[in-house]
Amino acid sequence: AAKRNGGNGIAVFEPHMGSDAGDQLELQNDLRHAIQRGQMTLHYQPKVDGQRGCIIGVEALLRWVHPERGMISPDTFIALAERFGIINALGNWVIEEACRQLAQWRTLGLHMRVAINLSVHQLREAGLAGRIAQALERHGVTADQLLCEITESIAMEDTQTTQRAFEELRHIGVYLSIDDFGTGYSSLNYLRQLPAQQLKIDRCFIRDLETEEDARAVVHAVVRLAHALGLRVVAEGVETAGQRDILLRMRCDELQGYFYARPMPAETLLAWARGDKPAGTPDFAASMINE
Ligand code: C2E
Ligand code: MG
Ligand code: MG
Ligand code: MG
Repeated sequence: AAKRNGGNGIAVFEPHMGSDAGDQLELQNDLRHAIQRGQMTLHYQPKVDGQRGCIIGVEALLRWVHPERGMISPDTFIALAERFGIINALGNWVIEEACRQLAQWRTLGLHMRVAINLSVHQLREAGLAGRIAQALERHGVTADQLLCEITESIAMEDTQTTQRAFEELRHIGVYLSIDDFGTGYSSLNYLRQLPAQQLKIDRCFIRDLETEEDARAVVHAVVRLAHALGLRVVAEGVETAGQRDILLRMRCDELQGYFYARPMPAETLLAWARGDKPAGTPDFAASMINE
């Protein structure tokens, strides 16, 4: 069933979508054509520097605006795309679009850093690093403006693939992040060898920070583990000032969540950078904006 999406008035379909065979087929077909029909967009959610309190980058999150079904969450269609074998086409579009957007923002005076999410299917595809390098080059974007997030559980499913892909990506100069950390089952020995620069603590721990001693203990331990390994640590799903305060006390490097900002269209982010943003939301790092 459709539910309303907080505020923007677009119907959102979630769990039961694609559950019967006919519906599945229709969706698969729609998904295959979604890119060429211009239905895919990226929204961008700010990442805030813990020490300085300013925006230092964004995460690109894919949105499918279906003509009849409305806005569909990636939690629903990414899994479908993986099942239907079209995740690589979708992932390639994300790479291209993120680079195009970085270049466009730059011409408008905004020097951004963007994180994109990668599926393990993309890591398995030979030539991913080359493809990313080409996209960067084509748009005149430097590799250090791009960060790739890979979910811990899938990264650990196939450690050889991940290791190889990470090394190739690192070689071209993009930054690497382990997403949703704490929900998988990383071997610490393996983690130590991965050429990643960042660890993102899964939202479920952040959610329980104020109420559960256990969650606090895990988050604190992960922050220290990350720092001991020379990684920056990011908390996702920060929704309250209380959670922020705890995370800052623990020396969490970056914070991301509805408390600061929801994912937003590229134009909105640009307007924010130009000062047209809600009172009380963080400013952009000075280095990102051309005077
Ligand atoms: P993720 O990479 O862990 O992204 C974080 C998710 O948490 C996003 O959901 C974001 O909108 C949501 N979020 C951010 N702050 C808060 C908060 O304070 N509270 C709550 N409750 N949620 C928050 P979204 O956009 O629905 O994306 C879900 C997942 O879909 C992502 O999880 C990622 O795994 C996947 N995904 C999104 N875009 C892409 C993409 O371009 N490619 C691939 N392969 N996967 C993607
Ligand atoms: Mg992510
Ligand atoms: Mg995450
Ligand atoms: Mg996630």
